[in-house]
Amino acid sequence: MPLLVMKFGGTSVADLDRIANAARKVQREVERGYQVIVIVSAMSGRTNELVGWVEGTSRLYDAREYDAVVASGENVTAGLMALRLQEMGVPARSWQGWQVPINTTAQHGSARFVSIPRGNIDAKFAEGMKVAVVAGFQGVAPDGRITTLGRGGSDTTAVAFAAAFGAERCDIYTDVDGVYTTDPRISGKARKLDRIAFEEMLELASLGAKVLQTRSVELAMRYNVRLRVLSSFEDTDDTSGTLVCAEDEIMESKVVSGVAYSRDEAKITLVTVEDRPGISAAIFAPLAEAGVNVDMIVQNISERDYEDHPGAVTDMTFSCPINQVERARKAMEDARAAGRIAYDDLAVDTEVAKVSVVGIGMRSHTGVAARMFRALADENINIKVIATSEIKISVLIDRKYMELAVQALHDAFELEKA
Ligand code: ADP
Ligand code: ASP
Ligand code: MG
Repeated sequence: MPLLVMKFGGTSVADLDRIANAARKVQREVERGYQVIVIVSAMSGRTNELVGWVEGTSRLYDAREYDAVVASGENVTAGLMALRLQEMGVPARSWQGWQVPINTTAQHGSARFVSIPRGNIDAKFAEGMKVAVVAGFQGVAPDGRITTLGRGGSDTTAVAFAAAFGAERCDIYTDVDGVYTTDPRISGKARKLDRIAFEEMLELASLGAKVLQTRSVELAMRYNVRLRVLSSFEDTDDTSGTLVCAEDEIMESKVVSGVAYSRDEAKITLVTVEDRPGISAAIFAPLAEAGVNVDMIVQNISERDYEDHPGAVTDMTFSCPINQVERARKAMEDARAAGRIAYDDLAVDTEVAKVSVVGIGMRSHTGVAARMFRALADENINIKVIATSEIKISVLIDRKYMELAVQALHDAFELEKA
């Protein structure tokens, strides 16, 4: 029997009516002859509340207990969804991660899949169950403790199940009707894309477009899962939404296909560090050990014999998620106290955001950076840090200009036009 994976995000299961609405979509696919694996998120706002409770209890919390608390939101919706389907006459059963089991690494808070054995769920399908409702975002570590996959992780659960069960497609139902040229909440001119290449989606997601979790796109690309984003609030059919697919399935390709932003960034500068071989390793190793996700890095041109510093000194600036600033600060202070690095000051700027343009067309076109910087200059927006790759350019700017920058770039690259 053909199988579909259908994932419903937080707003799509925000209350009992919405769960019923999602269940009707599942029922329709069952009536069309599919076995369905439904992946559910926690009700909207619930995961934030759970995270808040953890942080309110312990500042540098034990990640195992964070996972124990934060994974619970999905358990509730899985059970409710199974109950709703049963009420509608659809044979359904819920599964928490450990019951499948969804085996992951022991990296609590950002665990990765190791294996998803099919046996337990297949046995129930063989008995006549039509829908397996699986709690997204969670798994179980080798030692049996509950893990979570990182925020937005239910998308990744969905793609992993689609790969493991050879699903015909993986449908991600959410509160927008597809992937847009930029977040439709920020720009009224954002345009829905019928198709987007895996590589572009991967960059957009990793640069902040939270419509899909980055890992989910990576997995879909690796296992060639047909991945679709569509609305849970509208009537949908096999052609709705946005298909995330291989580059060669896409006819038109613009130089820039999307603009992404990430609001919760911070910039940290180590002022006057000595400039010598090994200094970068001495700075970034302790940050990595502390679990800080360093993103952009700039090192200033060195100055010689600067004031009372003999030899060359430099400033080292890096960006990281704003909620990791305290970890980063502690890692640097500990490294300084241990004599591994020396610096005069650690300056933190928590009022920054990252804005990026993405497009596979950049591989073969020049002038994208110039156009981007011109558009920002015309709005008087100062660029603090720049990073580029083959298909993206990112800038760090003052957060108060973030929305303006997104709109200006959307205009500059004429993304509202097909
Ligand atoms: P869910 O709870 O269903 O997982 P998310 O809130 O995680 O939903 O993701 C959907 C949101 O992603 C949309 O409401 C939208 O604001 C945001 N988003 C950001 N960038 C984009 C984009 N390029 N296209 C569509 N949505 C985007
Ligand atoms: N509930 C989790 C979160 O809010 C996972 C998800 O919704 O994908 O991050
Ligand atoms: Mg999400």
